[in-house]
Amino acid sequence: MTDPRPLAIVTGGARGIGAACALRLAADGYDVAFCHLNPSAAAEAIAEDCRSRGAEVYRAVCDVGNSADVAAFVETAQNRLGDVEVLVAAAGITRDGLLFGSSEPDWDDVLRTNLSGVRHVCKAVIPGMMRRRSGSIVTLSSVAGLTAALGQTNYAATKAGLIGFGKALAAEVARFGIRVNTVAPGFIATEMTEALAAGTIAAARKAVPLRRFGEPREVANLVAFLASSEASYITGHTFCVDGGLTA
Ligand code: NAP
Repeated sequence: MTDPRPLAIVTGGARGIGAACALRLAADGYDVAFCHLNPSAAAEAIAEDCRSRGAEVYRAVCDVGNSADVAAFVETAQNRLGDVEVLVAAAGITRDGLLFGSSEPDWDDVLRTNLSGVRHVCKAVIPGMMRRRSGSIVTLSSVAGLTAALGQTNYAATKAGLIGFGKALAAEVARFGIRVNTVAPGFIATEMTEALAAGTIAAARKAVPLRRFGEPREVANLVAFLASSEASYITGHTFCVDGGLTA
């Protein structure tokens, strides 16, 4: 009999960085439960890809901004696949625009998804991790939370917020053997950055010392390390993966 695989939960696992994390964790020996917002064939393709790497997979449409739905998603994942060892909170959105022209609904959407969403899923997984005195949480912030991000007051507020959230939560749960770290990517080639204006993409590429956007798997490499026991003495910190942008 082989040992059961530990369970990793990934929010926003259907595309981009979250999908790369789900695939990497599946390859690293985890079963994977991931959620996303919209039903899509692409999401099922990621689930199949994880299965081909040996993982049992539970995939669900679940809005991370809805605490009851998040609690139900985590409960079902645990009932099907066992205790949660790793959480990667990657679901996030942008609603860019200068503050003076921006709307309150956009502000609310970004805060609800990027900040409250992380709070809800952490709250759902932590009791089980506390009982087992083991667990690792990685949240996806952004360099927008560290440096001036023009036209992103809403997004930057959430991403800076996640850095404070991670530090405070790490201090709260360290005595239960739970680690919490934050990853701050720079420009990564996903649908989120495809939506940027051509001029912004060209200027961004020029500003990055490595002269290119990162690949989602280059973020997943760092996430997988922080999630693993290789990072057993690392908690409460934020790590950039940005091609040197903020160095
Ligand atoms: P992406 O390609 O746009 O994918 C976002 C994922 O999040 C999708 O799977 C989407 O679900 C899911 N999602 C969005 N709102 C959700 C909600 N309310 N509930 C559940 N799932 C939701 O984004 P990405 O570029 O991979 O970004 C992933 C994370 O990294 C985000 O937190 C982002 O802020 C952060 N980040 C990205 C970059 C970058 O350059 N790409 C840089 C810094 C930080 P559907 O597929 O169903 O729509």
